[in-house]
Amino acid sequence: MWFDSWCQQGPIISVVSRRLIGQAGYIHSDLVCDILASESWSWPADWCDRFPILNSIHNPTLCDMPDCVIWKTRECNVSDFSVHASWDSIRPHRDIVPWYHVVWFSQCIPRHSFILWLLIGEKLKTQDMLKNWEINPSISLLCPLCKLVPDSHNHLFFDCVFPRAVL
Ligand SMILES: [Zn+2]
Repeated sequence: MWFDSWCQQGPIISVVSRRLIGQAGYIHSDLVCDILASESWSWPADWCDRFPILNSIHNPTLCDMPDCVIWKTRECNVSDFSVHASWDSIRPHRDIVPWYHVVWFSQCIPRHSFILWLLIGEKLKTQDMLKNWEINPSISLLCPLCKLVPDSHNHLFFDCVFPRAVL
């Protein structure tokens, strides 16, 4: 009753504290059918005033079937559990970018694609990024290739003389 997400409002324990549950005479192993008395909830009347969300919990239809665990997707669809479905539910979702096929394609070398993906997002740990972390000022923040200017994404891939000489 208290710890499972059997209603849309989530686990009751996220609203009512363990102490209040105990003070009301309930035990932590109560089932929903233990608290549902003749089509209404048997919890103390003042709980509905203190926790208005409890008023929005609809009475479930009880049957004699045993409980089962279900997997609910981000879109609130019930599906079979799978690692793919669980990862898809918890990962951040963003719009598909038009350049994704430049980075990720069937014959790509994952290491190269990953670095290119970091580069496009300007997430490589270049020295201009390290400067924001307030590292020891005695450490040189010059480009390790040309040792002329501070390292950055633009310098490393477009401005530095060393990569140009290699090409
Ligand atoms: Zn350089």
